[in-house]
Amino acid sequence: MFEKILIANRGEIALRIVRACREMGIRTVAVHSTADESAMHVRFADESVCIGPPAARDSYLNIPAILSAAALTGADAIHPGYGFLSENAQFARIVAEHGFAFIGPAPEHIRLMGDKVTAKSTMREFGLPTVPGSSGALPTEEFARAAAQKIGYPVLIKAAAGGGGKGMKAAFNDEELREAYQLARSEARAAFGNDDVYMEKYLVRPRHIEVQLIGDTHGNALHFGERDCSIQRRHQKVIEEAPSPGLNADQREMIGALAANVIRKFGYRGVGTIEFLYEDGKFYFIEMNTRLQIEHTVTEMITGIDLVREQIRVATGLPLSYKQEDVQFQGHAIECRINAEHPESFIPSPGKIAGYHAPGGLGVRVDSALYDGYRIPPHYDSMIAKLIVHGATRNECLLRLKRSLEEFVIGGIQTTLPLHQRIIAQPDFINGDYDIHWLEKFLGRG
Ligand code: ADP
Repeated sequence: MFEKILIANRGEIALRIVRACREMGIRTVAVHSTADESAMHVRFADESVCIGPPAARDSYLNIPAILSAAALTGADAIHPGYGFLSENAQFARIVAEHGFAFIGPAPEHIRLMGDKVTAKSTMREFGLPTVPGSSGALPTEEFARAAAQKIGYPVLIKAAAGGGGKGMKAAFNDEELREAYQLARSEARAAFGNDDVYMEKYLVRPRHIEVQLIGDTHGNALHFGERDCSIQRRHQKVIEEAPSPGLNADQREMIGALAANVIRKFGYRGVGTIEFLYEDGKFYFIEMNTRLQIEHTVTEMITGIDLVREQIRVATGLPLSYKQEDVQFQGHAIECRINAEHPESFIPSPGKIAGYHAPGGLGVRVDSALYDGYRIPPHYDSMIAKLIVHGATRNECLLRLKRSLEEFVIGGIQTTLPLHQRIIAQPDFINGDYDIHWLEKFLGRG
């Protein structure tokens, strides 16, 4: 087992990893920018190293500085968390070349799934159904128009290097397509330094359903059921739940087994998620995330399994400690992502926390690096807390979520807590009757 892990991340996920390490008797090294000197992950880790100025490219994305910190502190593994360098195949390769273990999949698997065009064709070969779309990248507007004629409107232009919903534009006719194509390309260029785009049929009322997976280096692969992440704004998840109110037990078992089988054939090591859109009883693969996800928590709540612990174990070369039949689902869990943003305009609201009280009690979990008096720096993602609630039934979970949101106090800044209160009071949400466009429509109604 590893003796010391360096965590190349910040915020709640760095803290989440520190917690898993503590319980496993593994020492931790936090890295941080100058803006994060008093951050919670720095305080809770056994050691810390400052790796650069506030801008992420100079600190949390600074590969030489991170490797130096690992060498300096004698760490034997690096956990990338999510975001930042977590899906950077080159980073995974350099980490291994320098004699550290990378807590994640093999670099070639990260690269394969990082390009969404090759990811789709690979998954099709493995037998997963995909959304009808262009067979490859679309180099010009003419190619895009021809593809749209073939697929039929509405269509969605997506960035091959996509992530975080960036570089994604829908078009309902030729005229809209021209603008969507140019916009998607320039957004993709700005966000990923790669303006390759491809096209898919734009599904009008799908749910986003993803399967949590893990594989080890002994040929084992498991699924932990699905999560429903259809409550989204700008293609970004806002609320996630497990199990999905839209699936029955047979569909759950079918898609879980199918996805686990794919990563087993792949020889995939580590945690990963295969994402699908689900419409009219059919699943369509959209992408695979080769890392721990923000919403892994809801799966932990209904399975009682510590996914970070399993992730670390398989990275050391140990076999999985569970078999598929050991993975049992109990009750229901919902997660709300709480952002430091105005709840209506969504304008970021960094600043100093004045008054903080996290909800508690049976079935309530808060993953956050906030504390009273903490100053949220303006340089990073605006997500500041995850409230995760578990109940024996979905109804119990909803009642618990309502009272937990009421208890949650985050003073001094604007947060999206009121937005979550509004969403969970809606009959559609209470009935589990929503798709990926529901939240945008709800917000549009004002
Ligand atoms: P990213 O990598 O940017 O997160 P994804 O491919 O995972 O992109 O898609 C993010 C979200 O965008 C999905 O959860 C869904 O809401 C929406 N989306 C993606 N593909 C389609 C599609 N073909 N039709 C409709 N919505 C889509």
